[in-house]
Amino acid sequence: MAEKIKCLIIGSGPAGYTAAIYAARANMKPVLYQGIQPGGQLTTTTDVENFPGYPKGVSGPEMMVELQEQAERFGTEIRNGWITKVDFNNSLRLWVNDQDELLCESVIIATGASAKYLGLDSEKKYLELGGGVSACAVCDGFFYKDQDVAIVGAGDSACEEAHYLSKLCNKVTMLVRRDEFRASKIMQERVERTGNIEILYNTETKEVLGNGSVVESVAVFNNKTKEEKNIPITGFFVAIGHTPNTEIFKPYIEMDETGYIINEPGTSKTNIPGVFVSGDAADHVYRQAVTAAGTGCMAALDAEKYLASK
Ligand code: NDP
Repeated sequence: MAEKIKCLIIGSGPAGYTAAIYAARANMKPVLYQGIQPGGQLTTTTDVENFPGYPKGVSGPEMMVELQEQAERFGTEIRNGWITKVDFNNSLRLWVNDQDELLCESVIIATGASAKYLGLDSEKKYLELGGGVSACAVCDGFFYKDQDVAIVGAGDSACEEAHYLSKLCNKVTMLVRRDEFRASKIMQERVERTGNIEILYNTETKEVLGNGSVVESVAVFNNKTKEEKNIPITGFFVAIGHTPNTEIFKPYIEMDETGYIINEPGTSKTNIPGVFVSGDAADHVYRQAVTAAGTGCMAALDAEKYLASK
């Protein structure tokens, strides 16, 4: 027997919890599944200094605990578990951990996106320590004010983030693995014109090096000449793309070619009535906690209107 749920929220980042706060206050009895990384991407950040209302900043994990408490305070039921399968053919059916079936009146997708990393052990180590590896220049750039940093990637994100960092940092070294950029011409020209950005082509990362607590340099090699060198840096940024966590919705929900869900402009509606999207699962441009929270609010309000109209 499927469990009946009025409003199901999938994901526990700022989008999911904000949707839960609004849905619970509207008496929609939301049930939120936290997914594989409770708290979402912010749990891998150190300090969040750009979320309005925290003048002294707040640690990412602490902020997510507070958001969870706020969602629970109004009656959201928060569950551990992972939605592994959906069937949106004639009704909104979903399965938790491939077993328990849910029959929902409305669904809010807030599954977010995951930053891609290079996959080096040393990168993982300093990322987990909060010691100088980041996949978000806008979130963490400020901590490297007047310092030397490196950024990997050659797409629009890498260019945008390198340019952002160049305004804060002493020097930015861009590590580009091919002999050309993937980014649009205008973005490429912007980084080329910026005095304190050095671009190293055909350059790959061998290892992120540090003192066991914080990053001190990066070992790179030229994949044409095989020449190796160490670049002293305190911040190592990775901007090689994100993967939206939307795979399970693919057969039903309209997405762009990279997997970002397409919403009806100005709303959180997807192509399936009763299914709404919020946060990074539909946003490859802004990707901020505050924009995710904003669209989480929109999704709950849209779901409330939808339920009322039924
Ligand atoms: P992209 O997929 O466009 O670019 C990823 C970059 O990372 C590529 O240059 C790729 O290299 C490089 N890369 C991937 N894996 C590795 C690796 N293991 N080692 C080194 N380099 C690696 O991702 P983006 O996040 O930049 O952009 C995603 C989408 O969002 C794009 O459509 C982009 O146009 C858009 N966007 C638009 C913006 C704007 O208009 N303001 C801002 C940001 C993004 P290679 O080229 O060799 O494959």
